[in-house]
Amino acid sequence: MSKLTGKVAVVTGASKGIGAAIAKALAAEGASVVVNYASSQAGADAVVATITQAGGKAVAVRGDVSQATDAQGIIDAAIETYGRLDVLVNNSGVYEFAPIEGITEAHFHKQFNVNVLGLLLTTQAAAKHLGEGASVINIGSVVSRVTPAASAVYTGTKGAVDAITGVLARELGPRKIRVNSINPGMVETEGATSAGFIGSDMETALVTQTPLGRVGQPEDIAKVAVFLASDDAGWLTGEQLLAGGGLR
Ligand code: NAP
Repeated sequence: MSKLTGKVAVVTGASKGIGAAIAKALAAEGASVVVNYASSQAGADAVVATITQAGGKAVAVRGDVSQATDAQGIIDAAIETYGRLDVLVNNSGVYEFAPIEGITEAHFHKQFNVNVLGLLLTTQAAAKHLGEGASVINIGSVVSRVTPAASAVYTGTKGAVDAITGVLARELGPRKIRVNSINPGMVETEGATSAGFIGSDMETALVTQTPLGRVGQPEDIAKVAVFLASDDAGWLTGEQLLAGGGLR
């Protein structure tokens, strides 16, 4: 039997990048997966097709996690389609770097609304359906440790994710629901590429500081998500697993 047979997972922001790899990896271990997207329906449909062609179960569900009704709708889709919820991966995220003089209200709210409010709203909607043995996995970032220059708002959102992970681990622990984060280093994704990070001087500098000497791939992170979702991680809660080839 696979590690996640019979479990149902929601992965937010699974139309591409890290979320898509996590959705595929959870499904490959037997989970039925809600593949959430905000605007990239074609990407989400392609992830669902990959999963179903391999014999797995998945459905694409649109929803902006920063809107309470949408967050509720994503969770409702899991319950309506598969009848239960065991794993929530709060992966949806946006990142924009700016020096202090470049910070605007829009820059702040865009990132805090998706990366922090979206995580809270989705977890709130999920919490009433999660039972003993359930796993919430928040995607943080090593930026909360590395604190790169010109990233105050984005790094602020990921510092908040670290703190919220600890709070919710205490809050949901009595119900035997585990809450952990994965904090990736730089990962080669569609988002990191379009932001100009891949191929940049920043990538070169980060790789130099990375003991394992390369940037991450989405699959590197997906393997850690499978572990945290599974009973193999049954004694872990409130942890921040740094997944960056040793970058810290
Ligand atoms: P990506 O390639 O840009 O993909 C982002 C995903 O989030 C897409 O599926 C996107 O959906 C979704 N999304 C964006 N806004 C949303 C919203 N309001 N509601 C629902 N979904 C939304 O990003 P990524 O690089 O894979 O990053 C994924 C997560 O990892 C983020 O939390 C990011 O902060 C974190 N992270 C990334 C790196 C890295 O180097 N890549 C490193 C550390 C941490 P649509 O395509 O439909 O818009």
